[in-house]
Amino acid sequence: MMPEFKKTPAKAQKLPSKEEHLEKESIDAPISAAGEFKLEDPQTGDLYYPCHLGILFCGKFEASLFKFLERHLRDIFNGVFYEIHNLGEYTFSEELLAKGIKEEYKNSPNGEEKLEVHPTNKLYQILIDSRITQRINMILLITDLPIYSSENQDIVFLFGEANLKHHTGIVSTLKLKESFYGRAENKELFFQRLLKEVIHEIGHLVLQAEHCNNNWCVMRFSDSLEGIDHKGVFLCKECGKSLERLKEEFNFS
Ligand SMILES: [Zn+2]
Ligand SMILES: [Zn+2]
Repeated sequence: MMPEFKKTPAKAQKLPSKEEHLEKESIDAPISAAGEFKLEDPQTGDLYYPCHLGILFCGKFEASLFKFLERHLRDIFNGVFYEIHNLGEYTFSEELLAKGIKEEYKNSPNGEEKLEVHPTNKLYQILIDSRITQRINMILLITDLPIYSSENQDIVFLFGEANLKHHTGIVSTLKLKESFYGRAENKELFFQRLLKEVIHEIGHLVLQAEHCNNNWCVMRFSDSLEGIDHKGVFLCKECGKSLERLKEEFNFS
């Protein structure tokens, strides 16, 4: 579902004066419509398993993070991936970084601090491009940038999102850190939260599935930190069965 563009009212309007026009432009300048990032993917199509998964990082992360995620992804999705590749760090050009950003108030106690939030479509396009240049079937981006959904403009800050059609997913770490809420950093808790979100988004991509209603399942939808902390890192029995069916379908040994 694409956001609708505002339609010009049918009745005739006075043309804005040059000053009015300039003023409007300067307000609108940093904000582009989500539609600007219409995803271009010359290679969308069915995915065959096992496949190659790439993890791309955007921001500063501990070197141990990739190994940690890889180990757990292998446990959960045993056999689904030939290899899980560390694609290293992506660096934005200033021009691209500025595109599509929206300013939002960080929901902090004083409510004063503003953050620049990035549209998911901008990030998906980077992933689609790397998928093609690096010949990787599926890519997940882990970023410390705040993100908003290009599909659902009602969600101000997103933890993560998956794009099934383009075999790409995004997880934003910003709101998974205790420091975001003004509390002391806790690395272990951060790694656990991130792991759940990473498994969740890859779960969408692999199982081609919606959310699960089982309480502890990692595929349960969570729009709050409490929800993430409440659920487990594993697939429930039902989701596990879907994974087994997929393996049967693709003749896994
Ligand atoms: Zn989800
Ligand atoms: Zn489940």
